[in-house]
Amino acid sequence: MKVPARIGLLLAAGLAVGAGVPVAQSDHVKVDQVGYLPGETKFAVLTQEPTGDVLVRRVKDGKAVLAVIAGPPAADADSGDTVRSIDFSALKEPGEYFLEVPGVGESHPFRIGRDIYARPFRLAMRSFTGQRCGTSVTLAPDFPDYQYEACHLQPAQYHASSGKEGTRDVSGGWHDAGDYGKYVVNSGISTGTMLWAYELYEPRLRRLKLDIPESGGRIPDVLAETKWNLDWMLKMQDEDGGVWHKATTANFPGFILPKDDKSPVLVIGTGSAPFKNTTATADFAAVAAIGARVYRKFDREYADRCLAAAERGWTWVQANPNVLYQRNPQGIGTGGYGDGDASDERLWAAAELFRTTGKAPYKAYFAANYGKFSPTLKADSAQGWGNVSNLAMFTYALAGRRAEPTIVRQIRDDALKAADGIVARINANGYRMPLSSKEYYWGSNSVVANYGIMLLLAGRLQPKAEYRNAALDSLHYLLGRNAFNTSYVTQVGTKWAMNPHHRPSGADKLAQPWPGLLVGGPNAEGKTPPARQWKDETGSYTTNENAINWNAALVFLLAGVQP
Ligand SMILES: [Zn+2]
Repeated sequence: MKVPARIGLLLAAGLAVGAGVPVAQSDHVKVDQVGYLPGETKFAVLTQEPTGDVLVRRVKDGKAVLAVIAGPPAADADSGDTVRSIDFSALKEPGEYFLEVPGVGESHPFRIGRDIYARPFRLAMRSFTGQRCGTSVTLAPDFPDYQYEACHLQPAQYHASSGKEGTRDVSGGWHDAGDYGKYVVNSGISTGTMLWAYELYEPRLRRLKLDIPESGGRIPDVLAETKWNLDWMLKMQDEDGGVWHKATTANFPGFILPKDDKSPVLVIGTGSAPFKNTTATADFAAVAAIGARVYRKFDREYADRCLAAAERGWTWVQANPNVLYQRNPQGIGTGGYGDGDASDERLWAAAELFRTTGKAPYKAYFAANYGKFSPTLKADSAQGWGNVSNLAMFTYALAGRRAEPTIVRQIRDDALKAADGIVARINANGYRMPLSSKEYYWGSNSVVANYGIMLLLAGRLQPKAEYRNAALDSLHYLLGRNAFNTSYVTQVGTKWAMNPHHRPSGADKLAQPWPGLLVGGPNAEGKTPPARQWKDETGSYTTNENAINWNAALVFLLAGVQP
């Protein structure tokens, strides 16, 4: 939707302040409730007809600083809304503002400033602290009421599907989502995304304090939080190099606090030899290989341990290239994370191991196998836990001069073409967001964030303002500029998802949900309009759960867009 807006900066005394009756806030005026960066494009979405020019008013004194004409009405099929675009990009002055739309109402307040995403980033990062297993947790000092006692402290029992008997220490790690399970496949993309965010944006993140137990240590806080889960992943590797699928109770507990979940944690495998599987082991090898790069300058011994574990994992994958975990063993009802194709996971592992070590076998594996994915990156395919080939491609393209120039050129060309396609989709969408009509599935908000990541990574290969703006547009959707005029991140913005399918939020006595959680978002399941299929209800696990892989994508996006 192209909207040529007439924009006029108002004279200082041009408009009366607070004249007439106070205007009520309206859900028809949708903004990013956190705000906008000074130099970026700034759009709001209006879903009711205005009777005059839209005014941008300053919160502190009510002064109107800008008047714009809303764009023409357009039908947005995904939401069923009639939308008008409000372009107030001309406003660059830092401050707190709101929109006033005659005949409709006011927007939520929002800020313009360079530092506006610092708090959302902090909350999103600390949401991982809140997912920690096997230790007492507190979100003090900013959220002192949000705490729980140590959970799941008993040694885990080998389930019959694991091929072993007895117990194993698989303590630690992050609870996966609204449940308390721990799954290697989903830990893979989550931990990998976080480590990538650090690696790409280190100057911004290195000195950031998160007030976690490790703060003040030799490892930067962002990496220390991530190490909490990588340490757990290392415990899931068997002596033969293979990695078990998950460590969960047999079934999901009710809505109880973590410490009250007394069912035994089980180490769960495929049920027949070799019991470990290829997707989990290859994801593990990829992440441990990233860890070997990222932690090296802070802890050489740990980096060496990660690299050795990654290479042992790769050796196992070479010997067992296609062992799939497609369904839960008898008696197990927790998340499946089943995957019928391990070729993308193998490629990711090879690419990360190559980028970390430069060794010929990894380079050769990548060269011989990347061609299966053609084009290497596509505008309509974001990465997710079951589809990690994008990560393989980007990491190869970022591997430096040891990589094959013709392959790097191909990935770069495909990445830019994909990014151009995502940008085009955002520009054509009524809410300026990247999903196609078919992509409102389980966790659609994470697909939005992952498209944002693709735009930022394409921008690494070829910096372009429109990639950055489009990545920010993806974020604006998540933070309130959507059909529900609601921030999908808890305690971020003004009006946020109140009832995430998140057991601590459901079981504690606090009115507000735990902060910094990105909920799954609209999940159409064939129903229309797709963008409206979201319920802010605790029971709605298909639209309102949180998950570490979704929050990891949010962390990356927030890290990447900040100036
Ligand atoms: Zn736990």
